[in-house]
Amino acid sequence: MLAYNLEKVKNKISVTAQNAGKSEKEITLIAVSKTKPVSMLQEVYDLGVRDFGENKVQEIMEKYALLPSDIRWHMIGHLQRNKVKYIIDKVSLIHSVDSLRLAEEIDKEAKKHQLIMPILIQVNIAEEESKFGLSSLEILEEIKKISRLSHIKVKGLMTVAPFVENGEDNRKYFKLIKQLSVDIMNENIDNVCMDIISMGMTGDYQTAIEEGSTMVRIGTAIFGERNYTK
Ligand SMILES: *Cc1c(COP(=O)(O)O)cnc(C)c1O
Repeated sequence: MLAYNLEKVKNKISVTAQNAGKSEKEITLIAVSKTKPVSMLQEVYDLGVRDFGENKVQEIMEKYALLPSDIRWHMIGHLQRNKVKYIIDKVSLIHSVDSLRLAEEIDKEAKKHQLIMPILIQVNIAEEESKFGLSSLEILEEIKKISRLSHIKVKGLMTVAPFVENGEDNRKYFKLIKQLSVDIMNENIDNVCMDIISMGMTGDYQTAIEEGSTMVRIGTAIFGERNYTK
């Protein structure tokens, strides 16, 4: 089932990219494995996937210890400052930076480990009460402050669009994120590049790719529905 699902997703990414005049190589597929057992991750790993997304520090730590070391772990969930120290040397990209204070903590821990941590700035593009992220109005000022930290590197933007039945309904938000990333790039801020746009999930990744996503985070379409009651 996993091989079939993965093939289907990869194929859709490739067809969508081509139809939009892009190469599938421009788009990184992140397999979002939260709540799923290590055996399933291993199976997807054996099928060639190296990028995995998790939203809980504890879960990254457990899975990190049990799975191959060439996996690139992506922290995609809300990150508490007091937990940064546990994952700083384990993840390859933190997608969910939504405050200067969190960026400062990441910078501090990265310095201790003598590494430079790539991060994305999370934008709450639809201004949903329930979601984390900076508003598009405050983002430029925050990025300017964050960019002064020496042990992080701002690589782009990330957003979690509203939950919709039809991915098309999120097109307007994806367009806004793309425009925002162009505006920020045009500011030419030192230590800030906008190479990555992390947007698109199971319900809307095709639309996200059409609008300029470079990283899609896909859970359900690969691993099946999540069961949170277990
Ligand atoms: C769970 C999650 C995903 C994957 O969602 P699916 O709809 O299962 O593809 C993507 N991004 C974030 C931030 C998530 O928490």
